[in-house]
Amino acid sequence: MDAHSDSLKDLLRRALRTQIDYGFEEVILDPLPAPPERPAPVMDSGSAQDEAQRQTGGEADSQAALFGEADTGNDPGEPEYESLKEHCRAICDCTNCGLGHTRTKFVYGVGHPNAEIMFVGEAPGAEEDKRGEPFVGRAGQLLDKILAAMGLSRDQVYITNILKCRPPNNRDPLPDEVEQCIGYLYEQIRLIRPKIICALGRVAAQNLLETTTPLGKLRKRWHEFGGTPMMVTYHPAALLRFQQYKRDTWEDMQMLMARLDEMKAAQSG
Ligand code: SF4
Repeated sequence: MDAHSDSLKDLLRRALRTQIDYGFEEVILDPLPAPPERPAPVMDSGSAQDEAQRQTGGEADSQAALFGEADTGNDPGEPEYESLKEHCRAICDCTNCGLGHTRTKFVYGVGHPNAEIMFVGEAPGAEEDKRGEPFVGRAGQLLDKILAAMGLSRDQVYITNILKCRPPNNRDPLPDEVEQCIGYLYEQIRLIRPKIICALGRVAAQNLLETTTPLGKLRKRWHEFGGTPMMVTYHPAALLRFQQYKRDTWEDMQMLMARLDEMKAAQSG
């Protein structure tokens, strides 16, 4: 076996691994695209947080400022919290796993504290780690476009991740990191009480549903998380690399909006 065929095998192996990671069932035979570039920030949404950090002198206060609520002053050691702000303040210095020592910023979540729809991704990337807000890189811009097509903005939904700190080089979360961190997400769900949860990508879907079923087999049907309807779609980062899955994602979003409409109609009827 010469060096050329070895490197070709490596390339194919990486291409397959990437597609499996994104949950695709059909193998796409195009050459492996170059990794997406991280653009410079185009939206200054981090500035509110940065400004809060300057004014309050701490990450806890700056994260809490995202929610625009008053400081309740409750004991952060309590297992349950009265508000997202209070919860965020209690956990934003977490070092329960190693990622707490390598992160730049803790990334709690952003959006409406009583959102009807809650999107859950995998973990912060480089741009999110820098700015302390989820989905602000290219994938985040695509998520914003998907939301706009649904007639929504990120202020009307809630967006967060399974992990609150960035894994180095955007590697997959390790099981012990998920184990340490996922309770924070459970508490966010309890506080927000969304009507629908939408898992973005394989890692979020499999960890929330505690399954190893491939993402492709989890899509197009309803699941339940603690009594809340839950659905699964592709991660926007996957759509940046494999644009042919945008239509499937749009069908997933239509399924989501139809279910939300049904729930509202049932409530008002
Ligand atoms: S990833 Fe989660 S458990 Fe690990 S340090 Fe960050 S907040 Fe804590």
